[in-house]
Amino acid sequence: TTPHHSHRCWAQIDLAALERNLRLIRASLPAHMRYVAVVKADAYGHGLHHAAARMMHSGADLFAVANVTEAAQLRELGPGWPILVLSPLLPAEDHLLCELDLAATVSTPEEVARFEAVGQRFGRRIKVHLKIDTGMGRLGVWHAQAPALCAQIQRAPHLALAGLYTHFASPDDDPAFTAEQRRNFLDALTRCEGQVGPLRDALFIHADNSAGLGTLPEESRPFNAVRIGLLQFGILPAPHALLTQVRTEPVFSFHTRIGIVKHLPAGTTISYGRSHRLTRDTRVAVLCAGYGDGIPRALSNRGQVLIDGQRCPILGRVTMDQTIVDVSALGEVRSGDEVVLIGTQGGAQIDIGEFSRWADTIPWEILCSITKRVPRLYQ
Ligand code: PLP
Repeated sequence: TTPHHSHRCWAQIDLAALERNLRLIRASLPAHMRYVAVVKADAYGHGLHHAAARMMHSGADLFAVANVTEAAQLRELGPGWPILVLSPLLPAEDHLLCELDLAATVSTPEEVARFEAVGQRFGRRIKVHLKIDTGMGRLGVWHAQAPALCAQIQRAPHLALAGLYTHFASPDDDPAFTAEQRRNFLDALTRCEGQVGPLRDALFIHADNSAGLGTLPEESRPFNAVRIGLLQFGILPAPHALLTQVRTEPVFSFHTRIGIVKHLPAGTTISYGRSHRLTRDTRVAVLCAGYGDGIPRALSNRGQVLIDGQRCPILGRVTMDQTIVDVSALGEVRSGDEVVLIGTQGGAQIDIGEFSRWADTIPWEILCSITKRVPRLYQ
């Protein structure tokens, strides 16, 4: 759909770009690499249903979601699609592994025992990916203890080991620590195989997220899968990453419209807290979006927007439903005119990286902060 004149704030999602990105990333990887599409948090705010359907069509091998609620939404869409849940389940949710046919992440002996009991109750084998903590300090079994847990899984008749994975702590800015994590992981894999026999050809062996790809070794085996979130949406995890060779395109853009235009005299203070005072007579536009839509309040007196292909500074505090910008430098603008918050307009661009830096945050958080009030329009 294209934006209608009555859309006051919307996100445009370019599914064709998403498909091109996914195919490009795949093509840049060694042929044996499988593609785990990370679609948690409503596919990074892009809309789970549309994004996942397009990704499956584009060759995703496995979907990764955060929790069983997201998994249930995805299951409705694709009855046979393979789904991995990345975060821990609550004990009250364990039965959903069987009911929704999900693969679970395992980090502890307690989880192995719980999932085995559920598999037994349903008379089913539950797929599990053993997560190994190689230095993130979050989920996963500490790498020294991985072989014992792996053996416990292999002994459980109602569990099927489907993967082994780890997660990097600083893949974008600490290649030495990332290399250490890779070594810890591969060492743990070898020791797991010492306990239970060969694993690496049968399982998903995965570590790399978007930034990880920048340090993926030339001979990447035994890694045989990647777990990609941000990059498939055309966003680089860090400006200096080595990933610029993969020419992905932004999938997401963020738009609003001008509500009113008016002239204010020099000396007027703008918005809550009176944090900006006009130094000259100024033409301002009051935009139809604020932090209630996902424009961070941190952009107050700091961010910019595109109107008529030109950058206009935000004046004063961003409010819940409105944001005020200086349009003195523009020609005639009026109520209803389109404003680009993230994206391109007439050759000018505000990318999500720049937008995030104004708010002292990262693109992942911005994408998760675009609110429900903002319709996603698909093209
Ligand atoms: N794997 C795990 C466990 C994650 O938590 C995430 C995202 O946070 C990803 C993969 C995807 O990371 P990225 O969006 O940097 O590609």
